[in-house]
Amino acid sequence: MKLDILAFASHPDDVELGCAGTILAHIAAGKKVGVVDLTRGELGTRGTPAERVEEAEAAAKIMGLSVRDNLGFADGFFANDKEHQLQIVRKVRQYQPDIVLMNALHDRHPDHGRGAAVVAEACFLSGLKMIKTLGDSGLEQEAWRPGAMYNFIQDRYITPDFVVDVTPFWDKKLEAIRAFRTQFFNPDDTSPNTYISSPEFLDFIDARAREYGHAIGVTYGEGFTSAKKIGVRSLYDLI
Ligand SMILES: [Zn+2]
Repeated sequence: MKLDILAFASHPDDVELGCAGTILAHIAAGKKVGVVDLTRGELGTRGTPAERVEEAEAAAKIMGLSVRDNLGFADGFFANDKEHQLQIVRKVRQYQPDIVLMNALHDRHPDHGRGAAVVAEACFLSGLKMIKTLGDSGLEQEAWRPGAMYNFIQDRYITPDFVVDVTPFWDKKLEAIRAFRTQFFNPDDTSPNTYISSPEFLDFIDARAREYGHAIGVTYGEGFTSAKKIGVRSLYDLI
């Protein structure tokens, strides 16, 4: 199945926090979007890996994803090396996305910057014909390089290169985040508190999106960076 947009993220819930509004906006516009999580987030303090699989599936349904895959890399310890790059190359060639979204370039959690780096390198390598990979059917895959790659912004503040207006999709994004019920604030959950399980964390998510939104004159925005300069065909594409 060919996808229009494919998001790679180090942990299940990175996509929901970082770019679910943008994903929802493009699905509403008729685009096919998928997510490939690199790890199962098995080092998370709250919830079991099995619960996180269920939560990721529930969030995928809420967002309307065409695909949600998991590469099963080791949470906290996966490397940016040939073995991991080739597994990502196989996913890029399988789904042939026009646009790839990935983790923040640098962030509080070291998996985020490393996740962004391994995905960016794999997207480049995926376009090289001499790198041979086999698909699930056992047939050789065609080389494929996405036309554009953007990093969403996560915990640490990064000045975005562009901001997507996600105001109409804000409530749905929160619903997708709350699908990770073991991870975020839930007054009935007595598990140990973590950095992201306090009520203040969701206030921060709201405040960050209001700040990015304010910068472009809307209520809620999601910011992205791009290693390449952003080009437009018409000045009217800019809001
Ligand atoms: Zn993460």
